[in-house]
Amino acid sequence: MKIGFIGLGNMGAPMAANLAADGHEVLGFDTAGTTAVGVTSVAQIEEAVRGADAVITMLPNGEILRAVAAQITQHMKAGAALIDCSTVDVESARSVAQDADKKGLLFVDAPVSGGIGGAAAGTLTFMAGGSPEAFAAAAPLFEVMGQKAVHCGDAGAGQAAKICNNMILGVTMIATCEAFALADKLGLDRQKMFDVVSTSSGYSWTMNAYCPAPGVGPQSPADNDYTPGFAAELMLKDLGLSQQAAEAADADTPMGARALELYRSFVQDENGQGMDFSAMLPRFEKRGRGD
Ligand code: NAD
Repeated sequence: MKIGFIGLGNMGAPMAANLAADGHEVLGFDTAGTTAVGVTSVAQIEEAVRGADAVITMLPNGEILRAVAAQITQHMKAGAALIDCSTVDVESARSVAQDADKKGLLFVDAPVSGGIGGAAAGTLTFMAGGSPEAFAAAAPLFEVMGQKAVHCGDAGAGQAAKICNNMILGVTMIATCEAFALADKLGLDRQKMFDVVSTSSGYSWTMNAYCPAPGVGPQSPADNDYTPGFAAELMLKDLGLSQQAAEAADADTPMGARALELYRSFVQDENGQGMDFSAMLPRFEKRGRGD
C-alpha cells in the first residue's frame, strides 16, 4: 500500500518504520523534520497524503489533529482511509470522523497502548472506532504495527476505551503506591507486601506487572530510577481527557478526578515531570497526613 504518515515522533517514527519494513511505500511528514528508517520524508504535508491508500496520524493532541485533518482531507483520494493513532479527546475524534465522511473518506480513531517499546517491537494494541468498512481497511496495517486490534464501536469508541482504561490505570497506580507507603510505615516488608497482594484480591496490573517498588516483582521502571516507561505527564494528559469526557457525558468519576489532581501536582509542582508514572511511590513515601 501507499501510506502517508504524519507525526514521526517517539511513537510515530518506529510505527512508520515497521510499515516500511513490511514492504509498504511510506511517505512521512513531521513539522520538526524528524525521519524514520525506510520512510521517504517529504517537505509538504500534501505530498505525503496525495494518492495514498491510507494516511496515519500520530500527533500530540486533538487541536493539532483537527488542524492537520483539515489540511490533509482535501488532498486525500476518495475512499482512502484516515487512521488517527494519537490519544485525543473523544469530541475531536468524532469531529474529524464527520469531516472525513463528508469528503468520502474512511476514518478510524485508533489510539494505542504499549508505549515506545511496543511501537518499536510492533506489538501495540489498537483500540479502534469507526465503521466496519473503515476498520477492515485499517486492520492489515494494525497487524503490522501491533499484536492486537479491538473494534470498539463507532467513531470515538477507540478514544473512549483508551481513556477509560487509563483512568483505571492512574487510579490503580496511586492506590498501589499509597498502600506501599502505608505498609512501610506499618513496618511491613515490601517483598512480603508484594507476595500477599499479588496473589490476593488487591492484585492488579500495576502491582503484578509494573510494581512501583524497586527490587520487588518483575523488572519495571522502578528498577531504573523511575525512568519512563510511561511518563507521569502522559498519564496527566490521559486523566485530563477522561475528566473532559466525563464532564461532557455527565459521568460521576470522583476517583478519576482525584487522580488527575494528584498527577497534576506531581508533574507541575513536585518534580514529577520526566519521571515514570509509578514514581508516585517515592512521592507518597516522603509524605505524612498533613502534607
Ligand atoms: P511526540 O511528541 O514524540 O510526537 C509527536 C510528533 O508530532 C512530533 O514529532 C511533532 O513534531 C509532530 N507534530 C506536531 N504537530 C505536527 C503537525 N502539525 N504536523 C506534523 N507533525 C506534527 O509524541 P509521542 O510520544 O510520539 O506520542 C504521540 C501520540 O501517541 C500522543 O497523542 C500520545 O498521547 C500518544 N501515546 C504516546 C505513548 C508514549 O508512550 N509515548 C503511548 C501511548 C499513546
